[in-house]
Amino acid sequence: MPSADEHDEDFRVVIAGGGVAALEGALALRDLAGDRVAIEMLAPSAEFVYRPMAVREPFAYGPAHRYPLADIARDAGVTLRQEGFAWVDAPSRTAHTDAGEALSYDALLLALGARIQTRYPHAHTVDDRHLDDILHGLVQDVEAGYVTRLAFVVPGRMGWQLPIYELALMTMARAYEAGSRLSVTIVTPEEAPLAIFGIGASQAVAELLRESAIRVITSAYVEVPQWDTVIVNPGDRHLEVDRVVALPELFGPAVRGLPVAEHGFIPIDQHSNVRGAERVYAAGDATDFAIKHGGIAAQQADVAAEAIAALAGAPVQPQQFTPTIYGMLLTGGQPRYLRARITGGHGFSSEVSKDPLWTPPRKIAARYLAPYLEALDAKGA
Ligand SMILES: Cc1cc2nc3c(=O)[nH]c(=O)nc-3n(C[C@H](O)[C@H](O)[C@H](O)COP(=O)(O)OP(=O)(O)OC[C@H]3O[C@@H](n4cnc5c(N)ncnc54)[C@H](O)[C@@H]3O)c2cc1C
Repeated sequence: MPSADEHDEDFRVVIAGGGVAALEGALALRDLAGDRVAIEMLAPSAEFVYRPMAVREPFAYGPAHRYPLADIARDAGVTLRQEGFAWVDAPSRTAHTDAGEALSYDALLLALGARIQTRYPHAHTVDDRHLDDILHGLVQDVEAGYVTRLAFVVPGRMGWQLPIYELALMTMARAYEAGSRLSVTIVTPEEAPLAIFGIGASQAVAELLRESAIRVITSAYVEVPQWDTVIVNPGDRHLEVDRVVALPELFGPAVRGLPVAEHGFIPIDQHSNVRGAERVYAAGDATDFAIKHGGIAAQQADVAAEAIAALAGAPVQPQQFTPTIYGMLLTGGQPRYLRARITGGHGFSSEVSKDPLWTPPRKIAARYLAPYLEALDAKGA
């Protein structure tokens, strides 16, 4: 791939973010538009963290993999600025950084992720930046038999799909290995476990949970008034437990200068174009699409890259976003691979398998980023 300073093109693309959507967008754009575009990336952090693997940290598997952003930027021919995006003046096509710089652009891709907010102060809230600190002691208490009743709860607005199931299954598997007694209950607003993956996959996950003796209460909304109590509604049912693990609530970045959808998310159309803002695109957890998932972030970034490449004059026919959701569910034993094509927020084709359903079989399925990271890992980077 060409390096950043080999480009003399004048279609300027600014990408804000350094996660899945930003990197997928950069790699896709370089492939689709070649030297037609100069790409600048604004990212406050120096690393890309492979977030899905954080669920293994409390079980002593070591930290989630981190990749230096500078290396990825170099490979994608992107100029990296280690500063944050602050706001946008869309009419004048100017992105402002938190260091006070004004960057003019021909297209802007916002890939800012979501903000985590604790929903239940009396629960251990899943935060992948510190998951080992948050849950390692709890796993040890389970192994030692001090904790025998656990609830894993999902707030009313589902955030990430997989981690609460993975943590429940892995904790149960660890208790079994340690010979400790443990009862686990998952309480979720979903109408069935991982319902988003469609009926077939969801039923297989429900069966797996049953085999693991994990109870699931669906279509439920919870309160956690204290560390050892979960109130399940409808029905005002009280569960007595030793501890509660909860997903956080997610909020969007509420970008100054752009329309804002409910809870601060960025409203986008089927081409990842921000509604009411010409030449501004957004992808990933920051958008108002209901499913927050790495594979979805990547597909939205691909759609945005196609639209931007076409704007830059590349011979590309921009496609609409037609999501497929790929989920690799860690279980503490053999993982399960789930796949669903989605319409209207529900899977309509649904598959589940113990064998990979996509290649490379990574947790985040992404057309460009997954094979790129696979190659980096193979080189031992
Ligand atoms: C524990 C856990 C397990 C998961 N498991 C899976 C899984 O198995 N499969 C799957 O597909 N997905 C999974 N996900 C979800 C997946 O990680 C997210 O959906 C995905 O990371 C979203 O990508 P994104 O690029 O939109 O946001 P992020 O990955 O959150 O990246 C946002 C980026 O924007 C940067 N940023 C923030 N503010 C600014 C700013 N002002 N200016 C510039 N940059 C900024 C951040 O530093 C970050 O680099 C999981 C998530 C968690 C937490």
